[in-house]
Amino acid sequence: MYEVESIVVGAGVVGLAIARELALRGREVIVFEAEAHKGVHASSRNTSVIHAGISYVPGSHKSRLCADGKKRLYRYCAERNIPHRMIGKLITADVNSGEEGVDGLKKIQQRAAQLGLDDLHLISAHEAQRMEPELMCGGALWSPTSGIIDVHAYMDALEGDLRDARGAIAFASPVRSGKIEAGRIHLSLADKDETQIACRLLVNAAGLNAPHVAASIANRAHDALPPRLLSKGAYCVLRRASPFSHLIYPEPHGVHCSLDLGGQLRFGPDSQWIDEIDYTFDEARIAPFYEKIRAFWPNLRDGDLAPGWVGIRAKISTGKTNEIDFRIDVTNSGACRLIDLFGIDSPGLTASMGIGAEVAALAA
Ligand SMILES: Cc1cc2nc3c(=O)[nH]c(=O)nc-3n(C[C@H](O)[C@H](O)[C@H](O)COP(=O)(O)OP(=O)(O)OC[C@H]3O[C@@H](n4cnc5c(N)ncnc54)[C@H](O)[C@@H]3O)c2cc1C
Repeated sequence: MYEVESIVVGAGVVGLAIARELALRGREVIVFEAEAHKGVHASSRNTSVIHAGISYVPGSHKSRLCADGKKRLYRYCAERNIPHRMIGKLITADVNSGEEGVDGLKKIQQRAAQLGLDDLHLISAHEAQRMEPELMCGGALWSPTSGIIDVHAYMDALEGDLRDARGAIAFASPVRSGKIEAGRIHLSLADKDETQIACRLLVNAAGLNAPHVAASIANRAHDALPPRLLSKGAYCVLRRASPFSHLIYPEPHGVHCSLDLGGQLRFGPDSQWIDEIDYTFDEARIAPFYEKIRAFWPNLRDGDLAPGWVGIRAKISTGKTNEIDFRIDVTNSGACRLIDLFGIDSPGLTASMGIGAEVAALAA
């Protein structure tokens, strides 16, 4: 039986950021990842937006960790030359929404101010059109600190730091089950060697599978585990050059418009509840995008949209993303500690380094 001080389950952005932080603080840590590569689930199937942290509930994990994570992430990107760009976001009111639309934007601005974000500017439709000539809206909120990032380069940097600090990652190593015995958490892996390994600290950052991994540890004390709810989101990409150079998020329910670092314009994600992980792109999802996009970009032509990709959000409730918080559970069992991360949907990428610091502090 092998033994290690700390084990992190899952090598997505969250597991990697946590493992890096633990290793930098001098802890012995191994990450076990079920897949052959890091970050192949939510971490590489998202919008890659660094969110400003505008509309979360004050005092929530999402609000606090997004704000902290954003600062850490921009600093880290600069230090490590990780490709990223602070391109800013226009949160727009519908062109036909009149006073009501502008009032909605003012409410978002006030809420952001309560969260300490006082750099949002309300601008007129005319000013928004000066920034984005093809945009049609009834006014906008300009968020200058929103940005985009190369997530793969970010994960490479996290892995590099982890390994430099003597941490390790074992790929193709799914954690199958565990039990608490004699002051240790014993794990059984479904790898080719059927590895058995024990630790004192177990961090469950298994994303979509986090509720299953938590439930697979026998004889642990825990609060009621959350359900595993999966919300599938499809993206469409524009077949031609982007007319936009900023992120555009129409309020209250419009389709989000974002860019990658190569300038490719993408729309989405939409949302659909599913029962099992399934990354198939259903082409029937494309048609409804047209009407929603034309509400703010009338120049979209028939045939302009191509299938993009699909991501699945790790949900623990069917409520609105902004209102349902991340859940971080700490369970002590004798000399062992288990930390479970549930419902790490958006803004989990932005918050990842904040989550890393938080979990390392909870582990101490
Ligand atoms: C459609 C979509 C759009 C998003 N857009 C944004 C955005 O623009 N900005 C933002 O900040 N956030 C965004 N997010 C959220 C962000 O992508 C996630 O919060 C983040 O990637 C979660 O990282 P993670 O490491 O928790 O999960 P994951 O990346 O899913 O990693 C979990 C890992 O655990 C592994 N695993 C699972 N079970 C086991 C097991 N039994 N044993 C070992 N390993 C296991 C998996 O293989 C996986 O690699 C978006 C999410 C989605 C789905």
